[in-house]
Amino acid sequence: MIFTVAIDGPAAAGKGTISRAVADRFGFAHLDTGALYRAVGVKGGDPVLAARGLTPEDLARDDLRSLEAGQAASRVAVIPEVRAALLEFQRRFARRAGGAVLDGRDIGTVICPEAEVKLYVTASAEVRAHRRWLEVGGDETRVLAEVRERDARDMGRADAPLRAADDAVVIDTSDLSIEEAVARAVALVEARLVAV
Ligand code: C5P
Repeated sequence: MIFTVAIDGPAAAGKGTISRAVADRFGFAHLDTGALYRAVGVKGGDPVLAARGLTPEDLARDDLRSLEAGQAASRVAVIPEVRAALLEFQRRFARRAGGAVLDGRDIGTVICPEAEVKLYVTASAEVRAHRRWLEVGGDETRVLAEVRERDARDMGRADAPLRAADDAVVIDTSDLSIEEAVARAVALVEARLVAV
């Protein structure tokens, strides 16, 4: 069975948690596409060559979740050649047999416009910054500034900007618990699965 769940949205909206839960629930493979851009961002050197030569070791680095890696990722993510180098791998992953969940910024719009389920997971910048701050600590005002800066860069870039696909279902997690957000996503996938 080919079945793709595309989960897009801004940083720290809950995409990762929802994606992993959906993948576990239905036995689908999961790809955190942000990790690809983070790995390119922290590798240093020419980002286009880094994207073309990405290795499993690059993706296993333990510093990929830092604020700096997030910023570095969003800076290399504006480069069309970097995005092009990562495209085929993501497309093949999306259409692999057995079902796949991909989370990122452009899954429903560019990587897999034919995805069976498209979700756009969002929350207010303040709520997202607070969640990220609980993870990384430091100065919460700085975390909020970084979240806003990354949103602006991701939404404003020319190539594959962050936006909800026209046929995406929006889940605003600002006032939802993790369990409630996951339950909504699971219900949407279940409803679509019975129709295929
Ligand atoms: O989701 P995450 O915070 O790990 O993503 C890091 C950065 O990678 C994003 O801010 C964005 O610039 C970039 N990205 C992207 N397209 C994706 C996934 C991530 O441009 N599909």
